[in-house]
Amino acid sequence: MAEKLLSVVVSVYNEEAVLEQFFRETGPVLENLKWNYELLFVNDGSRDKSLEIVKGMAERDPHVKVVSFSRNFGHEAAMIAGIDHSSGDGIVCMDADLQHPPACLEEIIEKLDQGYEVINMVRTKNESAGWFKNLSSTAFYKVINMLSDVKFESNASDFFAISRRVAEVLKKNYREKVRFLRGYVQNVGFSRTTIPYEAGARAAGESKYSIRKLIRFSVNTIVCFSNLPLKLGIYAGAMAAFLGLVVMIYTLFTRGGAPSGYATIVVLICFMFAILFVMVGIIGEYIGILFTELKDRPVYLVEETKNINHDEARGSAS
Ligand code: UDP
Ligand code: MG
Repeated sequence: MAEKLLSVVVSVYNEEAVLEQFFRETGPVLENLKWNYELLFVNDGSRDKSLEIVKGMAERDPHVKVVSFSRNFGHEAAMIAGIDHSSGDGIVCMDADLQHPPACLEEIIEKLDQGYEVINMVRTKNESAGWFKNLSSTAFYKVINMLSDVKFESNASDFFAISRRVAEVLKKNYREKVRFLRGYVQNVGFSRTTIPYEAGARAAGESKYSIRKLIRFSVNTIVCFSNLPLKLGIYAGAMAAFLGLVVMIYTLFTRGGAPSGYATIVVLICFMFAILFVMVGIIGEYIGILFTELKDRPVYLVEETKNINHDEARGSAS
């Protein structure tokens, strides 16, 4: 039987400060694996020297492959592009900043060999993220698990491994434009397992996720994985109707006509309009995503590749 191939997909956005160190630390681990490997860097429109660095690596080492985008498309796009261009029997997605320890790869291979098809790496500790990021991440998972019928692992990260079969599913289906790969991976089913790991601090460079990006991302994820917010309008409507009925009955049976209540009226109007506008906003979020999906623009555009042979059909090459 031919030796199996592990594809390690690494998304790279302005990571010049850390790439050499990443390669130095990951290289020996990969060399010692039971499986053969390819190291696939997806350059997500970096504006620094990242592309030159990974291209240099690809020239020196045929294990290294590069897919480079025409501009920045985001981490989600980078990960799926890596999966699309990979040819391994198992695929691992990881970050370039060494927060995902390469030492875990050995354990991942073990699990893949045991026949697991989805391996979620679960953070036991996240040193680099401040209390705010940790708290908001916990809150986010609480909310999404409450709202969605698909369940999310609360400490899952963008560090995971999948089998070729799952990769093909992600390649063919789940081609949404507004994406949350981690969510798909956790919900495709197949035999799954988890491996705990400690996320260290970022080795160098700085985080590419701003708070604003994270909020946008959270809203999108909730909209994409749950229709429950849309139903809030029905509940709010029922409540307003009930309130109206009570007030109407009260007014009818109060002697001396309706009591004067300027403040009450103003407060009620503001309150009702607030609910109404929030509902309109929620519907707007759904329509926005609907429109994005409808336009069907590409998730990413590849400008150049290195060491990637598109004709090399899997299996026929070995
Ligand atoms: N990344 C990317 N495109 C982006 C932003 C980030 O490919 O637009 C990559 C980045 O190079 C890194 C990974 O995604 O390999 C995770 O980013 P980062 O470490 O900044 O996020 P954090 O760990 O702080 O959540
Ligand atoms: Mg990081």
